[in-house]
Amino acid sequence: MTTRTPKIHFDQVSAVFDLNGTPFTAVDGVDLTIADNEFVTVVGPSGCGKSTLMNMAGGLLPPTGGQVRVDGEVVTGPGPERGVIFQQYALFPWLTVRQNVEFGLQLQKIDKAERRRLVDHQLELTGLTRFADTLPKNLSGGMKQRCAIARAYAVNPKILLMDEPFGALDALTRVQMQVQLLQTWAQERRTVMFITHDVDEAVYLANRVVVMAARPGRIHAVIDVDLPYPRTEDIRLTDEFAELRNTVWSAVYHQQPDELTT
Ligand code: ADP
Ligand code: MG
Repeated sequence: MTTRTPKIHFDQVSAVFDLNGTPFTAVDGVDLTIADNEFVTVVGPSGCGKSTLMNMAGGLLPPTGGQVRVDGEVVTGPGPERGVIFQQYALFPWLTVRQNVEFGLQLQKIDKAERRRLVDHQLELTGLTRFADTLPKNLSGGMKQRCAIARAYAVNPKILLMDEPFGALDALTRVQMQVQLLQTWAQERRTVMFITHDVDEAVYLANRVVVMAARPGRIHAVIDVDLPYPRTEDIRLTDEFAELRNTVWSAVYHQQPDELTT
């Protein structure tokens, strides 16, 4: 038996905020191990601490208690091995698609020919080749988010931390983005922690779904998704998918009513 290397390890991680002098526990003692190249989705009601948890993995927020470790090292800040993607596209509006994707590579002082090769590859993976010279304002929401994903991938981070990246997209574009993300992931495996409040999305993408509950934010259930990859869109129509969706749905929505709102 081979055991998979833990890539990200949340060890009794807590986040307590000061709300006008009163401590507010946003995340309470989370223990979670994400394996190398695993795709984990985190789902839960609004305010249950999903973003707070991810920000601690990203090194954007220090935990109040416990620690996050990446490859065994305690996270103390952001790092190039962790690419972060938010719901807001965060592209530079004055740069073209190509220049946006190239940006991190320039920071890493990678030479011009190699930059071109890496950017071309990412544009192809995300279907943006034809839009290389377009400015973000002339892209649809889906294309902007694909550009943000291409940019995050270009610098070759081993870990992708994605906080509701498709949350602002219409339903159809969202499904297309999910399909595309899995295609990219199939070609270039990464360890992914993907936050969503969409149960379908959580099941479709993941090896494992982590369900959080609020008040205080904590892990409520962890559900294995034993569906084979590659996953076509048709998989959503199978009985297995329906069963998993029901399991996750129940875990999210049949929590105590007072746990569902903040
Ligand atoms: P989610 O992403 O699951 O919707 P968040 O992690 O954003 O939830 O927030 C969890 C809880 O912590 C919420 O009640 C939120 O209001 C609170 N919170 C988040 N960030 C801060 C902060 N900087 N200061 C005070 N409270 C915060
Ligand atoms: Mg959030």
